[in-house]
Amino acid sequence: MSHSLLADASQRLEWALKYTTISEDAVESLKYPQTSLTVSIPVRMDDGSLRVFQGYRVRYDDTRGPGKGGVRYHPNVSLDEVQSLAFWMTFKCAALNLPYGGAKGGITVNPKELSRMELERLSRGYIDAIADFIGPDVDILAPDVYTNAMVMGWMMDQYSIIKRQFSPAVVTGKPVTMGGSLGRETATAMGAFYVIEAMMPKFDRAPSETRVAIQGFGNAGGFLAEMLYQAGYKIVAVSDSQGGIYAQNGLNIPAISQFKKASRRLQAMYCDDTVCHTTAEAVLTNEELLELDVDILIPAALENQITEANANNIKAKYIFEVANGPITSAADTILNDRGIYVFPDILVNAGGVTVSYFEWVQNRSGLYWSLDEIHHRLKPRMVEEAANIWAIAQDLSIDLRTAGYVHALSRLGDAISAKGTRDYYVNHVKS
Ligand code: NAD
Repeated sequence: MSHSLLADASQRLEWALKYTTISEDAVESLKYPQTSLTVSIPVRMDDGSLRVFQGYRVRYDDTRGPGKGGVRYHPNVSLDEVQSLAFWMTFKCAALNLPYGGAKGGITVNPKELSRMELERLSRGYIDAIADFIGPDVDILAPDVYTNAMVMGWMMDQYSIIKRQFSPAVVTGKPVTMGGSLGRETATAMGAFYVIEAMMPKFDRAPSETRVAIQGFGNAGGFLAEMLYQAGYKIVAVSDSQGGIYAQNGLNIPAISQFKKASRRLQAMYCDDTVCHTTAEAVLTNEELLELDVDILIPAALENQITEANANNIKAKYIFEVANGPITSAADTILNDRGIYVFPDILVNAGGVTVSYFEWVQNRSGLYWSLDEIHHRLKPRMVEEAANIWAIAQDLSIDLRTAGYVHALSRLGDAISAKGTRDYYVNHVKS
């Protein structure tokens, strides 16, 4: 990737600063990641050879609380990517008023090439390498792209072994049997669903008249597709890393989910007579999916999917960013000029970190909540913060992303100022 993701992410900060009155101290503090750790992780492979993987953990800012952020396994993971993901976590936690700072981690690896044993050794090796840098009151891990509850379980177990004490609160998104929270697996999708349901009535649009395309059929995109389908939305296209499928009259999402679980591919559905013939699907690429004539577009895969190169071809009227950073800052300008509503990642996908927060609270209190209680606590937070961001956008006549940053910045700015000493110097110099 030629340009810096972090520089692109910081552009949003610059735009939002125009609409806030936060102190110079706060602005200066938020320009740079606080701490960035790079580690080399030696892993004994199944054939006896040794491979060394690069891993990262970045704490961007911890003024509002311990760092919080997922761990990504992907061949494109780089320090720059992890820093920008940590930046987004900082703003996301502030936007949702969670008592956390922002952090993120990752390993440069294609996990699909590793056996389960190799993956476990890699995950435990990562924790060995970063154990002094993390902790329940310091920096808390969670799943992200190509990591899941099983990986989180290994990580928590390894940390507990190192510390010689059961430490469930160092990692969220764990299996429920190891202190995980009910509802965490579907939390990102559930949070996004609540935001969509809260916002779409503003445009007088009934679910049955709303055509949706979803890029990415993983944890976030897959569950969201099921929820929207159950609520009556017409999901006309979905895709994964192999490509996508399209049906003008709507896809049968439960059948696709079942098929994907069994085959691990969406396009493999073409070999299955029953589903193919009943839903009349067509194969399409991820690029084509983004440019479909739909009402709602949901990027739920990776960053940098909508750029200057394709922003003018986007036909959706509303974009809900479930992935982190799927739209570049240059594309943002084009989409805004074209009147497309972009509901930003720091709001839309914040259900995951919110239920992670619930998991951390449960781990620390030792009292575990029912699924109903999780949903009962998640929904009002998502709906309230969506309404706050919508109101800021209306009041200041700005786009929703800038409004989200303004909202988060006011909380971050207050916390940084409350901690800072600048006023002493200012008063001293003046007197
Ligand atoms: P996942 O690994 O479960 O799924 C990722 C999906 O994207 C898979 O279907 C994969 O096939 C697909 N994909 C990969 N490369 C692609 C490509 N080039 N084009 C199209 N599809 C591609 O990951 P996830 O947890 O669902 O995360 C997806 C996005 O949501 C990421 O940006 C992640 O940071 C964000 N997110 C996830 C969570 C969470 O709790 N899982 C929380 C907040 C944000």
